[in-house]
Amino acid sequence: MIRTLLDGNRRFVAEVFDQDKAYFADLTRAQNPTVLWIGCSDSRVPVNTITQTKAGEVFVHRNVANIVATNDWNLSAVLEFSITHLHIPDIVVCGHYGCGGIRALDADPGADRYIPIWLINAQKAVTRVERRLEGELGEVDPETRHRLIVDENVRLQLEHLQEYPFVSAALKARQLRLHGWVYDMASGAIRVISSPDDLA
Ligand SMILES: [Zn+2]
Repeated sequence: MIRTLLDGNRRFVAEVFDQDKAYFADLTRAQNPTVLWIGCSDSRVPVNTITQTKAGEVFVHRNVANIVATNDWNLSAVLEFSITHLHIPDIVVCGHYGCGGIRALDADPGADRYIPIWLINAQKAVTRVERRLEGELGEVDPETRHRLIVDENVRLQLEHLQEYPFVSAALKARQLRLHGWVYDMASGAIRVISSPDDLA
């Protein structure tokens, strides 16, 4: 597999990079991405492939279950750099159906030590969905339940984003918009769960 990556890079240089040298030369001077993508680490959700975007267009942070944790210095630094330095106007939190991280919320953690701690930041999504299942939704099949939790987790992480003072300030100043999306691996399509108007 490692050899495949290096072979792929050689093809990239020959077929993409060398065909558009001016574009890549511009990128060596500065980056001006207009979107911050907060997505899942899952190998099946590659942002540039599913959104057909190029190098330089999307600033990316990925972790298990596309979580925004305000005690995560990694994401905090990404956010600060995106908003304060790059002045990125749009943030997308993108979940996906079939998410192993979200499924793990319902599973026995076994010997895992770190994954359960990390997933505490998504636990509230399960609680909220369960409340809806006990109320207006009634009983649903396991896959529907999973999809509801994936959707709810995106909403929850958008809420977490707004706990950052510089995020809420940029929102108030209308310099920033938040978007909640879910990628459906079965169709390749992205569903919009939450748009900036919902958060206004
Ligand atoms: Zn996932």
